[in-house]
Amino acid sequence: MNHLLFVLSGPSGVGKGTLVRELMREDPTLALSVSCTTRAPRRGEVDGREYYFLTEREFRSRIDENDFLEYDEHFGNFYGTPRSFVERQLKEHNVILEIDVVGGLNCKRMMPEACVLILIKPPSMEALTDRLGHRGTESPEALRGRLSRVKYELEQEPLYDYVVVNDDLARAKRELQEIIKRENRKGE
Ligand code: 5GP
Repeated sequence: MNHLLFVLSGPSGVGKGTLVRELMREDPTLALSVSCTTRAPRRGEVDGREYYFLTEREFRSRIDENDFLEYDEHFGNFYGTPRSFVERQLKEHNVILEIDVVGGLNCKRMMPEACVLILIKPPSMEALTDRLGHRGTESPEALRGRLSRVKYELEQEPLYDYVVVNDDLARAKRELQEIIKRENRKGE
C-alpha cells in the first residue's frame, strides 16, 4: 500500500492541534511531522514536540541544503516541513502534517500523489476570534495580524480535497478518521 501525507490546514486557533493529538491518540501508526520554526517557543512548548526551534541562521542553512519539503514566512518568522523526516516516514506510515494553507498547497505540488489536503474551518468567525483571544498567548497586534490572514486562508477552500468544520471536536475527529480510511482504501 502507498502511504499518504494528510495535511491539515486552517486558520490559527481553529483547533488543528487538538484534532491532530486526538487522531494520533487513537491511531498510533500515524507519524506526526514536526515542523521547524525560528519563532520563540510559547509557554509550555517543548523543542522537538510542537516544533524544532531553530535560529534564523540554522534555518537558512537548512534551506540551502534543500532540507525542507516546503517553507514559508509567517508574522516575521520562518516555518518549514523537514523533507527527510516526511520521506522516511512515508515508506512505513501515513504521515500527518499541521500547516498553513500555502504550505499545504506547496506540499501538494511537491508530492501530488501522496498528499491529501484537508481544510479545517471554524463554525464562524466569531467562534474563531473568541478562541484566539482566550488562548492568551498573543499580543493584540499579533492577534490582529493572525485574524487578517484568516479570510485569505478560507478563500483557498476550492483548492482543498476535503473541508471539515470544527464545530464539535468528537464529530470533526470522526469525519477526519473517515477521510483517512477512505483515502487508504483508494490506494489498496
Ligand atoms: P504558530 O506560530 O501559531 O504555531 O503557527 C503560525 C502558522 O505557521 C500557522 O498557520 C501554522 O499552520 C503555520 N506553520 C506551522 N508549521 C509550518 C510549516 O512547516 N510550514 C508552513 N508553511 N507553515 C507552517
